[in-house]
Amino acid sequence: MTKPIFIAGEWKLGRGPVRATYFPADGSLNAEIATASAEDVEEAVQAAERAWRAPQWRNSMPHERAAVLYRVADLITQRVDELAAMQTRDNGKPLAETRGLVMSAAATARYFAAACETLDEQLPAQRSSEFMTLSVHEPLGVIAAITPWNSPIASEMQKIAPALAGGNAVVLKPADATPLAALALAELFEEAGLPKGLLSVLPGRGSVVGEALAAHPLVRKISFTGGTGTGRHLAHVAAEKLIPTSLELGGKSPTIVFDDADLELAAKGVAYGIFSSSGQACIAGSRLFVHASVYGRFLDRLLELTRNLRVGHPEAPGTHMGPLISEAHLESVAAFVEQAKAQGGEILCGGARLTEGDLARGSYYPPTIISGLSNRASVCQDEIFGPVLVVLKFDDEADLLAQANDSVFGLAAGIWSEDFRRAWRFGRLLEAGTIWINTYKKFSISAPFGGFKESGLGREKGRLGVLEYMQQKSLYVGLSDNPNPWCN
Ligand code: NAD
Repeated sequence: MTKPIFIAGEWKLGRGPVRATYFPADGSLNAEIATASAEDVEEAVQAAERAWRAPQWRNSMPHERAAVLYRVADLITQRVDELAAMQTRDNGKPLAETRGLVMSAAATARYFAAACETLDEQLPAQRSSEFMTLSVHEPLGVIAAITPWNSPIASEMQKIAPALAGGNAVVLKPADATPLAALALAELFEEAGLPKGLLSVLPGRGSVVGEALAAHPLVRKISFTGGTGTGRHLAHVAAEKLIPTSLELGGKSPTIVFDDADLELAAKGVAYGIFSSSGQACIAGSRLFVHASVYGRFLDRLLELTRNLRVGHPEAPGTHMGPLISEAHLESVAAFVEQAKAQGGEILCGGARLTEGDLARGSYYPPTIISGLSNRASVCQDEIFGPVLVVLKFDDEADLLAQANDSVFGLAAGIWSEDFRRAWRFGRLLEAGTIWINTYKKFSISAPFGGFKESGLGREKGRLGVLEYMQQKSLYVGLSDNPNPWCN
Protein backbone atom coordinates (compact mmCIF):
# COMPACT_ATOMS: atom_id res chain seq x y z
CA MET A 1 0.00 0.00 0.00
CA THR A 2 1.27 3.48 -0.83
CA LYS A 3 2.40 5.39 2.27
CA PRO A 4 0.69 8.79 2.57
CA ILE A 5 2.57 12.02 3.25
CA PHE A 6 1.86 14.92 5.62
CA ILE A 7 0.39 17.89 3.78
CA ALA A 8 -1.03 20.81 5.78
CA GLY A 9 -1.72 18.65 8.84
CA GLU A 10 -3.44 15.81 6.92
CA TRP A 11 -2.09 12.39 5.94
CA LYS A 12 -2.89 11.91 2.29
CA LEU A 13 -1.48 10.83 -1.05
CA GLY A 14 0.47 13.57 -2.72
CA ARG A 15 -0.16 14.42 -6.35
CA GLY A 16 3.39 13.49 -7.44
CA PRO A 17 4.41 10.04 -8.73
CA VAL A 18 4.64 7.17 -6.25
CA ARG A 19 8.29 6.54 -5.30
CA ALA A 20 9.70 3.22 -4.13
CA THR A 21 12.60 3.27 -1.66
CA TYR A 22 15.00 0.34 -1.29
CA PHE A 23 17.23 -1.11 1.43
CA PRO A 24 20.77 -0.41 0.16
CA ALA A 25 22.03 -3.58 1.92
CA ASP A 26 20.23 -5.93 -0.43
CA GLY A 27 18.07 -3.90 -2.79
CA SER A 28 14.81 -5.14 -1.22
CA LEU A 29 11.77 -2.87 -1.29
CA ASN A 30 11.42 -0.61 1.76
CA ALA A 31 8.23 1.25 1.02
CA GLU A 32 6.18 2.78 -1.73
CA ILE A 33 5.67 6.38 -0.82
CA ALA A 34 3.49 9.09 -2.27
CA THR A 35 5.40 12.19 -3.33
CA ALA A 36 4.28 15.79 -3.51
CA SER A 37 3.61 17.95 -6.55
CA ALA A 38 3.81 21.72 -7.02
CA GLU A 39 0.08 21.91 -6.10
CA ASP A 40 0.84 20.13 -2.82
CA VAL A 41 3.60 22.68 -2.14
CA GLU A 42 1.04 25.45 -2.68
CA GLU A 43 -1.40 23.81 -0.26
CA ALA A 44 1.26 23.21 2.40
CA VAL A 45 2.73 26.72 2.21
CA GLN A 46 -0.70 28.40 2.33
CA ALA A 47 -1.63 26.30 5.38
CA ALA A 48 1.73 27.10 7.00
CA GLU A 49 1.17 30.82 6.44
CA ARG A 50 -2.27 30.66 8.09
CA ALA A 51 -0.97 28.50 10.93
CA TRP A 52 1.92 30.70 12.04
CA ARG A 53 -0.23 33.83 11.85
CA ALA A 54 -3.07 32.21 13.86
CA PRO A 55 -3.33 33.73 17.36
CA GLN A 56 -2.83 30.30 18.92
CA TRP A 57 0.79 30.24 17.58
CA ARG A 58 1.49 33.94 16.99
CA ASN A 59 0.61 34.82 20.58
CA SER A 60 2.12 31.70 22.09
CA MET A 61 4.77 32.17 24.74
CA PRO A 62 8.21 30.60 24.22
CA HIS A 63 7.61 28.10 27.04
CA GLU A 64 4.41 26.95 25.36
CA ARG A 65 6.23 26.26 22.09
CA ALA A 66 8.99 24.61 24.10
CA ALA A 67 6.43 22.25 25.66
CA VAL A 68 5.68 20.75 22.21
CA LEU A 69 9.39 20.18 21.59
CA TYR A 70 9.88 18.53 25.00
CA ARG A 71 6.95 16.18 24.26
CA VAL A 72 8.43 15.28 20.86
CA ALA A 73 11.81 14.60 22.48
CA ASP A 74 10.12 12.23 24.96
CA LEU A 75 8.28 10.43 22.16
CA ILE A 76 11.50 10.01 20.18
CA THR A 77 13.27 8.64 23.24
CA GLN A 78 10.51 6.06 23.74
CA ARG A 79 10.90 4.86 20.15
CA VAL A 80 14.65 4.93 19.61
CA ASP A 81 14.94 1.32 18.46
CA GLU A 82 12.03 1.53 16.03
CA LEU A 83 13.25 4.83 14.52
CA ALA A 84 16.85 3.63 14.26
CA ALA A 85 15.79 0.41 12.52
CA MET A 86 13.68 2.38 10.05
CA GLN A 87 16.55 4.69 9.25
CA THR A 88 19.01 1.85 8.80
CA ARG A 89 16.67 0.35 6.21
CA ASP A 90 16.32 3.78 4.59
CA ASN A 91 20.00 4.63 4.09
CA GLY A 92 22.00 1.57 5.11
CA LYS A 93 23.91 3.06 8.06
CA PRO A 94 24.77 0.57 10.82
CA LEU A 95 22.28 0.44 13.70
CA ALA A 96 24.76 1.86 16.23
CA GLU A 97 25.03 5.00 14.08
CA THR A 98 21.34 5.43 13.43
CA ARG A 99 20.61 5.03 17.15
CA GLY A 100 23.05 7.88 17.75
CA LEU A 101 21.30 10.04 15.18
CA VAL A 102 17.89 9.37 16.73
CA MET A 103 19.17 10.23 20.22
CA SER A 104 20.73 13.40 18.85
CA ALA A 105 17.38 14.42 17.33
CA ALA A 106 15.76 14.11 20.78
CA ALA A 107 18.60 16.11 22.34
CA THR A 108 18.25 18.82 19.67
CA ALA A 109 14.52 19.18 20.35
CA ARG A 110 15.20 19.50 24.10
CA TYR A 111 18.05 21.94 23.59
CA PHE A 112 16.06 24.33 21.39
CA ALA A 113 13.07 24.06 23.73
CA ALA A 114 15.33 25.17 26.59
CA ALA A 115 17.08 27.78 24.44
CA CYS A 116 13.84 29.42 23.39
CA GLU A 117 12.26 29.51 26.80
CA THR A 118 15.36 31.03 28.39
CA LEU A 119 16.36 33.48 25.67
CA ASP A 120 16.24 37.03 27.06
CA GLU A 121 15.08 39.97 24.98
CA GLN A 122 17.27 43.08 25.14
CA LEU A 123 16.95 46.44 26.73
CA PRO A 124 19.80 48.13 24.84
CA ALA A 125 21.93 50.84 26.45
CA GLN A 126 19.66 53.90 26.55
CA ARG A 127 20.67 57.04 24.63
CA SER A 128 18.01 59.54 25.73
CA SER A 129 15.80 60.36 28.71
CA GLU A 130 12.99 61.32 26.30
CA PHE A 131 12.35 57.83 25.00
CA MET A 132 13.32 54.29 25.78
CA THR A 133 14.27 51.59 23.29
CA LEU A 134 13.58 47.87 23.32
CA SER A 135 14.77 45.19 20.96
CA VAL A 136 12.69 42.04 20.44
CA HIS A 137 12.78 39.04 18.12
CA GLU A 138 9.90 37.92 15.94
CA PRO A 139 9.36 34.90 13.70
CA LEU A 140 10.15 35.08 9.99
CA GLY A 141 7.08 33.13 8.85
CA VAL A 142 7.13 30.06 6.61
CA ILE A 143 10.49 28.26 6.53
CA ALA A 144 11.46 25.95 3.66
CA ALA A 145 13.66 23.19 5.12
CA ILE A 146 15.45 20.99 2.58
CA THR A 147 17.59 18.06 3.74
CA PRO A 148 19.96 15.38 2.32
CA TRP A 149 19.93 11.59 2.71
CA ASN A 150 23.01 10.94 4.81
CA SER A 151 21.79 11.78 8.35
CA PRO A 152 18.01 11.96 8.26
CA ILE A 153 16.11 12.74 11.49
CA ALA A 154 19.15 14.55 12.93
CA SER A 155 19.47 17.04 10.06
CA GLU A 156 15.70 17.48 9.93
CA MET A 157 15.42 18.18 13.65
CA GLN A 158 18.26 20.70 13.43
CA LYS A 159 15.96 22.81 11.28
CA ILE A 160 12.47 22.02 12.59
CA ALA A 161 13.29 22.53 16.30
CA PRO A 162 14.80 26.05 16.16
CA ALA A 163 12.29 27.14 13.52
CA LEU A 164 9.25 26.12 15.59
CA ALA A 165 10.89 27.40 18.78
CA GLY A 166 11.14 30.78 17.09
CA GLY A 167 7.40 30.79 16.30
CA ASN A 168 7.60 29.90 12.59
CA ALA A 169 5.94 27.21 10.46
CA VAL A 170 8.02 24.65 8.53
CA VAL A 171 7.51 22.95 5.19
CA LEU A 172 10.13 20.19 4.99
CA LYS A 173 11.35 18.52 1.82
CA PRO A 174 13.42 15.50 2.81
CA ALA A 175 15.79 13.73 0.40
CA ASP A 176 14.17 11.73 -2.33
CA ALA A 177 15.89 8.51 -1.24
CA THR A 178 15.22 8.75 2.51
CA PRO A 179 11.81 10.22 3.37
CA LEU A 180 10.81 7.72 6.10
CA ALA A 181 12.46 9.38 9.11
CA ALA A 182 10.99 12.76 8.19
CA LEU A 183 7.50 11.27 7.91
CA ALA A 184 7.99 9.53 11.27
CA LEU A 185 8.93 12.91 12.78
CA ALA A 186 5.72 14.41 11.41
CA GLU A 187 3.73 11.68 13.21
CA LEU A 188 5.51 12.48 16.46
CA PHE A 189 4.89 16.24 16.17
CA GLU A 190 1.22 15.50 15.48
CA GLU A 191 1.04 13.23 18.54
CA ALA A 192 2.77 15.94 20.62
CA GLY A 193 -0.06 18.34 19.78
CA LEU A 194 1.58 20.69 17.28
CA PRO A 195 -1.27 22.73 15.75
CA LYS A 196 -2.24 21.68 12.22
CA GLY A 197 -0.43 23.30 9.33
CA LEU A 198 2.71 24.28 11.26
CA LEU A 199 4.59 21.32 9.81
CA SER A 200 4.25 19.65 6.43
CA VAL A 201 6.56 16.93 5.11
CA LEU A 202 6.68 16.75 1.33
CA PRO A 203 8.90 14.02 -0.13
CA GLY A 204 9.63 14.35 -3.82
CA ARG A 205 12.13 15.36 -6.43
CA GLY A 206 14.37 18.32 -5.63
CA SER A 207 13.88 19.79 -9.09
CA VAL A 208 10.07 19.75 -8.67
CA VAL A 209 9.11 19.92 -4.99
CA GLY A 210 12.27 21.58 -3.65
CA GLU A 211 12.28 24.10 -6.45
CA ALA A 212 8.58 25.03 -6.05
CA LEU A 213 9.00 25.32 -2.30
CA ALA A 214 12.13 27.48 -2.35
CA ALA A 215 10.66 29.83 -4.95
CA HIS A 216 7.25 30.19 -3.27
CA PRO A 217 6.58 33.88 -2.53
CA LEU A 218 5.33 33.15 1.01
CA VAL A 219 8.50 31.29 2.01
CA ARG A 220 10.56 33.69 4.14
CA LYS A 221 13.74 31.63 4.63
CA ILE A 222 15.42 28.66 2.96
CA SER A 223 17.27 26.41 5.38
CA PHE A 224 19.23 23.94 3.28
CA THR A 225 21.64 21.08 3.92
CA GLY A 226 23.10 19.33 0.89
CA GLY A 227 25.55 19.68 -1.96
CA THR A 228 27.36 22.93 -2.75
CA GLY A 229 25.93 23.08 -6.30
CA THR A 230 22.34 22.87 -5.05
CA GLY A 231 23.14 25.35 -2.28
CA ARG A 232 24.53 27.86 -4.75
CA HIS A 233 21.38 27.55 -6.86
CA LEU A 234 19.14 28.08 -3.83
CA ALA A 235 21.18 31.14 -2.82
CA HIS A 236 20.25 32.63 -6.22
CA VAL A 237 16.57 31.80 -5.66
CA ALA A 238 16.73 33.45 -2.24
CA ALA A 239 18.55 36.51 -3.60
CA GLU A 240 15.71 37.09 -6.10
CA LYS A 241 13.24 37.19 -3.22
CA LEU A 242 15.63 38.95 -0.81
CA ILE A 243 15.14 36.32 1.85
CA PRO A 244 17.79 34.84 4.16
CA THR A 245 19.26 31.38 3.62
CA SER A 246 21.26 29.09 5.76
CA LEU A 247 23.37 26.69 3.75
CA GLU A 248 25.14 23.64 5.22
CA LEU A 249 27.13 22.33 2.25
CA GLY A 250 29.91 20.00 1.20
CA GLY A 251 33.43 19.51 2.52
CA LYS A 252 36.90 18.13 1.81
CA SER A 253 38.31 18.26 5.29
CA PRO A 254 42.04 17.97 6.01
CA THR A 255 43.35 15.94 8.93
CA ILE A 256 46.90 16.62 10.07
CA VAL A 257 49.16 14.24 11.99
CA PHE A 258 52.15 16.13 13.42
CA ASP A 259 55.40 14.39 14.33
CA ASP A 260 54.58 14.68 18.05
CA ALA A 261 51.13 13.08 17.78
CA ASP A 262 50.08 10.05 19.80
CA LEU A 263 50.14 7.86 16.71
CA GLU A 264 47.88 5.14 18.08
CA LEU A 265 45.13 7.61 19.02
CA ALA A 266 45.60 9.47 15.76
CA ALA A 267 45.35 6.33 13.60
CA LYS A 268 42.09 5.33 15.28
CA GLY A 269 40.74 8.87 15.00
CA VAL A 270 41.69 9.20 11.34
CA ALA A 271 40.07 5.84 10.46
CA TYR A 272 36.88 6.85 12.27
CA GLY A 273 36.93 10.35 10.76
CA ILE A 274 36.89 9.10 7.18
CA PHE A 275 35.38 5.60 7.21
CA SER A 276 32.46 5.84 9.67
CA SER A 277 29.18 6.29 7.78
CA SER A 278 31.12 4.74 4.86
CA GLY A 279 32.56 8.19 4.31
CA GLN A 280 29.12 9.60 3.49
CA ALA A 281 29.53 12.55 5.84
CA CYS A 282 30.01 16.21 5.01
CA ILE A 283 32.72 16.42 7.70
CA ALA A 284 34.57 13.25 6.63
CA GLY A 285 38.33 13.77 7.06
CA SER A 286 39.14 12.86 3.46
CA ARG A 287 42.58 14.52 3.01
CA LEU A 288 45.27 13.26 5.37
CA PHE A 289 48.58 15.10 5.86
CA VAL A 290 51.22 13.15 7.81
CA HIS A 291 54.62 14.49 8.89
CA ALA A 292 57.42 12.83 6.88
CA SER A 293 59.25 11.63 10.00
CA VAL A 294 56.30 9.45 11.16
CA TYR A 295 54.71 8.79 7.76
CA GLY A 296 55.77 5.13 7.35
CA ARG A 297 55.00 4.10 10.92
CA PHE A 298 51.69 5.89 10.94
CA LEU A 299 50.55 4.54 7.60
CA ASP A 300 51.38 0.94 8.58
CA ARG A 301 49.15 1.22 11.65
CA LEU A 302 46.37 3.01 9.76
CA LEU A 303 46.39 0.32 7.06
CA GLU A 304 46.28 -2.41 9.69
CA LEU A 305 43.27 -0.79 11.41
CA THR A 306 41.55 -0.17 8.09
CA ARG A 307 41.95 -3.75 6.89
CA ASN A 308 40.31 -4.92 10.12
CA LEU A 309 37.18 -2.79 9.67
CA ARG A 310 34.09 -4.95 9.21
CA VAL A 311 32.13 -3.99 6.11
CA GLY A 312 28.83 -5.76 6.14
CA HIS A 313 25.13 -5.87 6.79
CA PRO A 314 24.11 -2.71 8.69
CA GLU A 315 21.76 -4.69 10.95
CA ALA A 316 24.50 -7.12 12.05
CA PRO A 317 26.13 -6.32 15.41
CA GLY A 318 29.70 -5.14 15.11
CA THR A 319 29.45 -3.82 11.56
CA HIS A 320 31.68 -0.75 11.11
CA MET A 321 30.61 0.17 7.57
CA GLY A 322 27.35 -0.59 5.78
CA PRO A 323 26.62 -0.18 2.08
CA LEU A 324 26.65 3.09 0.18
CA ILE A 325 23.25 4.69 -0.32
CA SER A 326 22.73 3.49 -3.91
CA GLU A 327 24.29 1.88 -6.96
CA ALA A 328 24.50 5.27 -8.64
CA HIS A 329 26.46 6.68 -5.72
CA LEU A 330 28.76 3.64 -5.66
CA GLU A 331 29.49 4.19 -9.34
CA SER A 332 30.36 7.82 -8.66
CA VAL A 333 32.75 6.84 -5.81
CA ALA A 334 34.34 4.12 -7.98
CA ALA A 335 34.81 6.61 -10.83
CA PHE A 336 36.80 8.93 -8.51
CA VAL A 337 39.08 6.05 -7.55
CA GLU A 338 39.63 5.16 -11.22
CA GLN A 339 40.46 8.81 -11.88
CA ALA A 340 43.01 8.74 -9.03
CA LYS A 341 44.64 5.63 -10.54
CA ALA A 342 44.78 7.28 -13.96
CA GLN A 343 46.50 10.29 -12.37
CA GLY A 344 49.20 8.07 -10.84
CA GLY A 345 47.64 7.35 -7.45
CA GLU A 346 48.66 4.17 -5.67
CA ILE A 347 45.82 2.21 -4.07
CA LEU A 348 47.11 1.04 -0.68
CA CYS A 349 43.92 -0.78 0.27
CA GLY A 350 40.38 -1.18 -1.08
CA GLY A 351 39.77 0.32 -4.49
CA ALA A 352 37.15 -2.04 -5.95
CA ARG A 353 33.56 -2.82 -4.96
CA LEU A 354 32.90 -5.81 -2.70
CA THR A 355 31.01 -8.70 -4.23
CA GLU A 356 31.72 -11.66 -1.98
CA GLY A 357 28.70 -13.64 -0.73
CA ASP A 358 25.80 -11.50 0.49
CA LEU A 359 27.73 -8.30 -0.23
CA ALA A 360 26.99 -8.84 -3.93
CA ARG A 361 23.34 -7.92 -3.24
CA GLY A 362 24.11 -4.43 -1.92
CA SER A 363 26.18 -1.39 -2.87
CA TYR A 364 29.26 -2.15 -0.75
CA TYR A 365 32.52 -0.31 -1.27
CA PRO A 366 35.56 -1.00 0.94
CA PRO A 367 37.60 1.56 2.87
CA THR A 368 40.12 2.82 0.35
CA ILE A 369 43.44 4.59 0.92
CA ILE A 370 45.34 6.28 -1.91
CA SER A 371 48.84 7.76 -1.89
CA GLY A 372 51.21 9.27 -4.44
CA LEU A 373 49.07 12.26 -5.45
CA SER A 374 49.35 15.98 -4.80
CA ASN A 375 46.75 18.13 -3.07
CA ARG A 376 45.81 19.52 -6.51
CA ALA A 377 44.61 16.08 -7.74
CA SER A 378 40.87 15.91 -8.34
CA VAL A 379 40.38 13.37 -5.51
CA CYS A 380 41.87 15.98 -3.14
CA GLN A 381 39.80 18.85 -4.48
CA ASP A 382 36.36 17.30 -5.18
CA GLU A 383 34.01 15.93 -2.57
CA ILE A 384 33.73 12.15 -3.10
CA PHE A 385 31.30 11.51 -0.21
CA GLY A 386 32.51 7.93 0.13
CA PRO A 387 35.12 5.83 1.99
CA VAL A 388 38.14 7.19 0.16
CA LEU A 389 41.13 8.73 1.94
CA VAL A 390 44.05 10.37 0.18
CA VAL A 391 47.34 10.53 2.15
CA LEU A 392 49.94 13.22 1.62
CA LYS A 393 53.34 13.75 3.26
CA PHE A 394 54.56 17.09 4.67
CA ASP A 395 57.67 18.36 6.41
CA ASP A 396 57.23 22.13 6.44
CA GLU A 397 54.50 23.78 8.52
CA ALA A 398 54.00 26.81 6.26
CA ASP A 399 53.65 24.60 3.20
CA LEU A 400 51.27 22.32 5.11
CA LEU A 401 49.06 25.27 6.01
CA ALA A 402 48.94 26.45 2.39
CA GLN A 403 47.97 22.98 1.18
CA ALA A 404 45.41 22.34 3.90
CA ASN A 405 43.70 25.64 3.07
CA ASP A 406 44.00 25.06 -0.69
CA SER A 407 40.39 23.97 -1.14
CA VAL A 408 37.15 25.67 -2.11
CA PHE A 409 35.64 23.99 0.96
CA GLY A 410 36.08 24.95 4.61
CA LEU A 411 33.82 22.76 6.69
CA ALA A 412 36.09 21.00 9.20
CA ALA A 413 39.65 19.95 9.98
CA GLY A 414 41.45 17.65 12.41
CA ILE A 415 44.78 18.11 14.20
CA TRP A 416 46.68 15.37 16.02
CA SER A 417 49.50 16.72 18.19
CA GLU A 418 50.57 16.43 21.83
CA ASP A 419 51.76 20.05 21.74
CA PHE A 420 48.61 21.93 22.60
CA ARG A 421 50.05 25.38 21.85
CA ARG A 422 51.04 24.26 18.36
CA ALA A 423 47.66 22.64 17.74
CA TRP A 424 45.85 25.75 18.97
CA ARG A 425 47.98 28.09 16.85
CA PHE A 426 47.56 25.94 13.75
CA GLY A 427 43.86 25.43 14.35
CA ARG A 428 43.33 29.20 14.38
CA LEU A 429 45.01 29.45 10.96
CA LEU A 430 42.98 26.71 9.27
CA GLU A 431 40.06 27.98 7.19
CA ALA A 432 37.24 25.79 8.48
CA GLY A 433 34.14 26.19 10.63
CA THR A 434 34.98 23.30 12.97
CA ILE A 435 38.42 22.20 14.17
CA TRP A 436 38.92 18.98 16.12
CA ILE A 437 42.13 18.67 18.16
CA ASN A 438 43.04 15.10 19.19
CA THR A 439 39.55 13.91 18.39
CA TYR A 440 37.33 13.88 15.31
CA LYS A 441 33.64 13.93 14.36
CA LYS A 442 32.44 14.75 17.86
CA PHE A 443 29.50 17.10 18.23
CA SER A 444 27.90 19.26 20.84
CA ILE A 445 24.52 20.82 20.14
CA SER A 446 25.63 23.92 22.05
CA ALA A 447 28.57 24.63 19.68
CA PRO A 448 27.57 26.48 16.48
CA PHE A 449 28.22 24.46 13.30
CA GLY A 450 28.68 25.65 9.72
CA GLY A 451 31.14 26.15 6.93
CA PHE A 452 33.74 28.66 5.77
CA LYS A 453 34.05 29.37 2.02
CA GLU A 454 31.92 27.12 -0.22
CA SER A 455 30.98 24.87 2.68
CA GLY A 456 28.16 27.13 3.71
CA LEU A 457 26.54 30.24 5.05
CA GLY A 458 25.13 30.77 8.53
CA ARG A 459 25.35 28.53 11.58
CA GLU A 460 23.14 25.78 12.98
CA LYS A 461 23.08 24.65 16.62
CA GLY A 462 24.21 26.81 19.53
CA ARG A 463 21.87 28.73 21.79
CA LEU A 464 21.60 31.55 19.29
CA GLY A 465 20.66 29.07 16.51
CA VAL A 466 17.05 29.91 17.25
CA LEU A 467 17.73 33.53 16.23
CA GLU A 468 18.65 32.32 12.72
CA TYR A 469 14.88 31.79 12.35
CA MET A 470 13.83 35.16 13.75
CA GLN A 471 14.08 38.82 12.85
CA GLN A 472 14.82 41.69 15.17
CA LYS A 473 12.48 44.58 15.83
CA SER A 474 13.31 47.79 17.72
CA LEU A 475 10.61 49.64 19.61
CA TYR A 476 10.89 53.27 20.77
CA VAL A 477 8.64 54.39 23.58
CA GLY A 478 8.28 58.17 24.23
CA LEU A 479 8.77 59.34 27.83
CA SER A 480 8.52 63.08 27.28
CA ASP A 481 5.39 65.24 27.62
CA ASN A 482 6.27 66.97 24.35
CA PRO A 483 8.05 64.32 22.23
CA ASN A 484 8.06 66.15 18.86
CA PRO A 485 8.30 69.96 19.53
CA TRP A 486 9.08 70.61 15.83
CA CYS A 487 5.64 71.94 14.86
CA ASN A 488 4.42 73.69 18.04
P1 NAD B 1 21.76 17.38 -2.83
O1 NAD B 1 22.19 18.79 -2.87
O2 NAD B 1 21.71 16.62 -4.09
O3 NAD B 1 20.29 17.28 -2.23
C1 NAD B 1 19.95 17.83 -0.97
C2 NAD B 1 18.46 18.14 -0.96
O4 NAD B 1 18.19 19.17 -1.92
C3 NAD B 1 17.58 16.95 -1.35
O5 NAD B 1 16.40 16.97 -0.58
C4 NAD B 1 17.27 17.24 -2.81
O6 NAD B 1 16.09 16.62 -3.27
C5 NAD B 1 17.12 18.76 -2.77
N1 NAD B 1 17.28 19.44 -4.07
C6 NAD B 1 18.00 19.03 -5.13
N2 NAD B 1 17.87 19.92 -6.15
C7 NAD B 1 17.07 20.93 -5.71
C8 NAD B 1 16.57 22.13 -6.28
N3 NAD B 1 16.85 22.49 -7.53
N4 NAD B 1 15.79 22.92 -5.53
C9 NAD B 1 15.50 22.59 -4.24
N5 NAD B 1 15.91 21.44 -3.66
C10 NAD B 1 16.70 20.62 -4.37
O7 NAD B 1 22.67 16.65 -1.76
P2 NAD B 1 22.65 15.11 -1.33
O8 NAD B 1 23.31 14.30 -2.39
O9 NAD B 1 21.27 14.73 -0.88
O10 NAD B 1 23.57 15.16 -0.02
C11 NAD B 1 24.94 15.08 -0.05
C12 NAD B 1 25.55 16.47 0.12
O11 NAD B 1 25.09 17.07 1.31
C13 NAD B 1 27.06 16.43 0.24
O12 NAD B 1 27.62 17.44 -0.53
C14 NAD B 1 27.29 16.71 1.73
O13 NAD B 1 28.55 17.26 2.01
C15 NAD B 1 26.19 17.65 2.02
N6 NAD B 1 25.90 17.67 3.46
C16 NAD B 1 26.27 18.78 4.18
C17 NAD B 1 26.06 18.81 5.56
C18 NAD B 1 26.48 20.01 6.38
O14 NAD B 1 26.00 20.14 7.49
N7 NAD B 1 27.34 20.88 5.89
C19 NAD B 1 25.46 17.73 6.20
C20 NAD B 1 25.10 16.63 5.45
C21 NAD B 1 25.31 16.61 4.07
